[in-house]
Amino acid sequence: MPKNKTHYEDCDILVVGGGMAGTGATFEARHWGRDLKIVCVEKANIDRSGAVAQGLYAINCYMGMQWNENQPEDHVRYARNDLMGLVREDLGYDMARHVDSTVHMFDEWGLPMMKNPKTGRYQREGKWQIMIHGESYKPIVAEAAKKSADKIYNRIMITHLLMDENNENRVGGAVGFNMRTGDFHVFRSKTVIVAAGGASHIFKPRAVGEGMGRTWYAPWSNGSAYALPIAAGAKMTQMENRIVLCRFKDGYGPVGAYFLHLKTYTQNANGENYEKKWYDQTKKLVGEYIDHHPTPTCLRNHAFVQEVMAGGGPIHMVTKEAFQDPHLETVGWENFLGMTVGQAVVWASQNIDPKYTNPELTTSEPYVMGSHATCSGAWVSGPEDISPPEYFWGYNRMMTVEGLFGAGDTVGGSAHKFSSGSFTEGRLAAKAAVKYIEDQKAKNIKIGDEQCENFRKIIYKPLENYTVGRNEITGGTVSPSYISPIQGLQRLQKIMDEYVGGISVNYMTNDNLLKRGLELLEWLQEDLEHVGAEDYHQLMRAWELKHRAITSQCVTEHTLFREETRWPGYYYRGDHMKLDDKNWHCLTVSRRDPKTGKFTMEKMPVYHIIGDEDKKKAS
Ligand SMILES: Cc1cc2nc3c(=O)[nH]c(=O)nc-3n(C[C@H](O)[C@H](O)[C@H](O)COP(=O)(O)OP(=O)(O)OC[C@H]3O[C@@H](n4cnc5c(N)ncnc54)[C@H](O)[C@@H]3O)c2cc1C
Repeated sequence: MPKNKTHYEDCDILVVGGGMAGTGATFEARHWGRDLKIVCVEKANIDRSGAVAQGLYAINCYMGMQWNENQPEDHVRYARNDLMGLVREDLGYDMARHVDSTVHMFDEWGLPMMKNPKTGRYQREGKWQIMIHGESYKPIVAEAAKKSADKIYNRIMITHLLMDENNENRVGGAVGFNMRTGDFHVFRSKTVIVAAGGASHIFKPRAVGEGMGRTWYAPWSNGSAYALPIAAGAKMTQMENRIVLCRFKDGYGPVGAYFLHLKTYTQNANGENYEKKWYDQTKKLVGEYIDHHPTPTCLRNHAFVQEVMAGGGPIHMVTKEAFQDPHLETVGWENFLGMTVGQAVVWASQNIDPKYTNPELTTSEPYVMGSHATCSGAWVSGPEDISPPEYFWGYNRMMTVEGLFGAGDTVGGSAHKFSSGSFTEGRLAAKAAVKYIEDQKAKNIKIGDEQCENFRKIIYKPLENYTVGRNEITGGTVSPSYISPIQGLQRLQKIMDEYVGGISVNYMTNDNLLKRGLELLEWLQEDLEHVGAEDYHQLMRAWELKHRAITSQCVTEHTLFREETRWPGYYYRGDHMKLDDKNWHCLTVSRRDPKTGKFTMEKMPVYHIIGDEDKKKAS
């Protein structure tokens, strides 16, 4: 057992993850909790961490209420439509009614916003998006968090939540280790806000071998946001609703600005508009949902996937026309500079100048997240003024474990939050966490030394596995007694890919495959007891893998439970190929028993709180 120091920190609000939601939570916690001790713990460094690390070119969620461009009701209708009817409208509405104030603060803090020279308003890219010069987006919001927190801990990965020994369903903090020094950190806290991002690399990625690590979603998003609450017995929702993205091939460069601003369009290898070819077939699967406007993201993917399977690929983005305009050509290239420089490098390396060659598109491997055109994550309480009883248990964004809150990708049911909405949700969670403390709900939490010591042993076990097992290594790296994190990761990705609907099976799965997948995942869990780490970096990889594995089990259980194909283009249940509103117009909710590791599933009602009358406006 390595002799690492143990550090104790006692605080009121512990924010796990300092990305968009975490910085929002840290900032807002100080506003309401002037005298509280607020601590933020981040796996990387909050100046450049999370999905926004490299910057963004657009803020994808801004209502523009001051100019009556959109109202929160419009956004709920939009998200509901895109997610094929299934969202938590209370959460979406709550985020939408507060998001503009968040964006106005970004503006005040110095984020360069593009303005429309004619109107003086923020420059729109689409109905919901506004354009920014966003390379420094993350350092700007990080500064607000740094000024608000009592302490920011960088380079500490949180591995487990601490639970109150007086109340087994109440949180009492978290533990983790510093990935540079190896020291063990115990955070005893009255409340915990999990804001640890989404999950990439649970399904086998398209980029393998020398390209491994190149994914659309941030490669360091390892599902801690789900694994931490799942392991503590918190309920999760819509975990089957993984997202598949249509992006520029190999670089995963964003297509939004191309469609919306450059007005480019897609075609198959023969120059045909393939989407309309698949209209009748899609209508048979999902009924009138295909007639909704805008076409739900998954259904556009569906046409793409079907066309490629029918031999119509590759699919191209027609850039040659727009790029003849020098201004649009500049915008097209700049779109990557603030966000995905790698796409420009890929084009350069493949001799693609979009002015003369239409670049290829692809559909990505699936990801799990709660803030994009998808809504997997924790089952949380909504706000008291609008949530129906099934959606409300006292504190906004509190999970089913007391004192445990979530925001951003962590929270399920509320899609299309993006960067600004995630920051906003962090603010909402923090405000509620302060109230929870003020209401004296966090009294007499007991965290004994034994609980901490047990976690310490568990956390460092991979180092011990390696130290013991390396004596048996043969042939340079072949070990009979431990598996390395990369071996475990590739095994996980193969199971998820082949059994749970990844790229190699064109997103197809069924009851038999899922049951077999669950068996294989259980055996993987057994073997993960023997994962070996040769240094602290590998120890981080080992824990990232363990978090991915438990997230994957939850995704698979949910996919098995929902006996329909609700989102063709994200995944298909081959044994239930049709959307089934009669039986499945509901939310799925799971809970893993922390003692037995077994999942139980239930259906929860979908309440349509916002009326339909303005449907046209939402387009
Ligand atoms: C490629 C891409 C393009 C996007 N484009 C746009 C766009 O143009 N406009 C827009 O508005 N939004 C965009 N988004 C969405 C936006 O980035 C996300 O909605 C937002 O970042 C989610 O916020 P979050 O706080 O939940 O996660 P993140 O911002 O990813 O933050 C999670 C944080 O948790 C940390 N963490 C993870 N695990 C642990 C752990 N165990 N212990 C401690 N810390 C941990 C991570 O290091 C990270 O800092 C895009 C996302 C991606 C991936």
